[in-house]
Amino acid sequence: MKKDKLYLIDIAAVGDYVDYDLNDDGTGSIFNIEKRDNYISRKAPKIKGSSYRGERLEQIVASNIDNFFIVTSIFSPEFNNKVIDRFLVVGESAKLKCFIVINKEDLDQENLLSEWEEIYSIIGYKVIRTSAKTHIGMDKLNELFKGKKNILWGQSGVGKSSLLNKIYPGLNLKTKLISTFNEKGTHSTVTSTMFKVDKDTFVIDTPGIREIEPYGIRKEDLGHYFREFLPYIKNCKFNTCTHFHEPGCAVIRAVEEEEIFPERYDSYLKLLDTIEQDIIF
Ligand code: GDP
Ligand code: ZN
Repeated sequence: MKKDKLYLIDIAAVGDYVDYDLNDDGTGSIFNIEKRDNYISRKAPKIKGSSYRGERLEQIVASNIDNFFIVTSIFSPEFNNKVIDRFLVVGESAKLKCFIVINKEDLDQENLLSEWEEIYSIIGYKVIRTSAKTHIGMDKLNELFKGKKNILWGQSGVGKSSLLNKIYPGLNLKTKLISTFNEKGTHSTVTSTMFKVDKDTFVIDTPGIREIEPYGIRKEDLGHYFREFLPYIKNCKFNTCTHFHEPGCAVIRAVEEEEIFPERYDSYLKLLDTIEQDIIF
């Protein structure tokens, strides 16, 4: 089997409840996957050098999750609100409880991110500032993790593994600066790992990625995953409104009246632009 086609047969995902047969030699086979309460996914990444030309399929990253922690950092990689918004769309479309972690707070001497912290808090997200170096925010994270299945996801190098190592020193996860494995064709499959860290607490570490493309989202649905748009969407003139150019759009009016942050609307438009029209369900 050619490795670059592995993602086509990713059937079970981390977090799934499965029935399986185990052989004496430790190998086995899964013969049933229970229905997932929820799952997060993305569009399978483009594979450099691969001859595969078909539709890019859905890649399930993890399932049956309670908390989704979107991890970002102040520098290296530099904070980028549009990346957060993309992850939020993934989390919201999966109906997950989303948290925003801003790591490497020790590098934010000038408190550059207070504005973003405020924006996301006003929209209704819990923002946790952390530093794996100075331990700021570690107790908060630890409290939120308890008794839940938690997934941490974000770009490479934001400090997911460092944070988990600090909270659970026994994990001993490998940390490194910037992962390049995604650029090589054969290793582009997402392999997340779930760790049981306590009787009923689980954390899922996910390989960092460079970019995220939400899967299977239609243009007219995207606005539903920007939670502050929701009170306005129902007042748009057309129920297929994409809040871009349509007359009688209540979202555009809310942006003009400064009831929706322009930064979020800008993110929305950028994402809208990347969604292909011809998604088949
Ligand atoms: P991951 O790819 O998200 O798992 O990121 P890693 O945990 O491997 O961390 C990437 C790099 O960022 C490593 O060199 C870490 O030492 C560094 N790092 C992680 N957390 C912090 C932090 O809070 N502050 C600073 N200054 N560096 C950090
Ligand atoms: Zn509209």
